[in-house]
Amino acid sequence: MDCIFCKIANKEIPSKIVYEDDIAVAFEDINPQAPVHILIIPRKHIPTSLALTEDDKALVGHLFLVANKVAEEKRIADRGFRLVMNSNEEAGQTVFHIHLHLLGGRVMQWPPG
Ligand code: 5GP
Ligand code: ZN
Repeated sequence: MDCIFCKIANKEIPSKIVYEDDIAVAFEDINPQAPVHILIIPRKHIPTSLALTEDDKALVGHLFLVANKVAEEKRIADRGFRLVMNSNEEAGQTVFHIHLHLLGGRVMQWPPG
């Protein structure tokens, strides 16, 4: 499959991986929008959050637990951080393999742009 994030998970494309296990991979975003900007993806190819099924419930929960672990390691857990998953075009989704953005290390604005 011609998916850039599947290739990153399989290490066919290099990235700065900060965490990985059987279910998920976390790596630094190539174009960071904050001092900490990590993407957390499932190894399973799922194009958008809209394609999630009942079978994916544990997988989605796991992405959040990985995000917590990385936030602790990056020392932004207590300061605060933001988790974002963009779905489809108006949200700004550009890579169609679901990913949680973990953003932190600076004050975030609300509402987001
Ligand atoms: P989206 O816009 O789909 O929510 O987020 C896609 C993210 O993937 C963007 O923040 C973009 O910088 C990042 N990205 C796109 N291609 C690559 C890549 O090849 N390597 C890494 N590490 N990040 C990428
Ligand atoms: Zn994929």
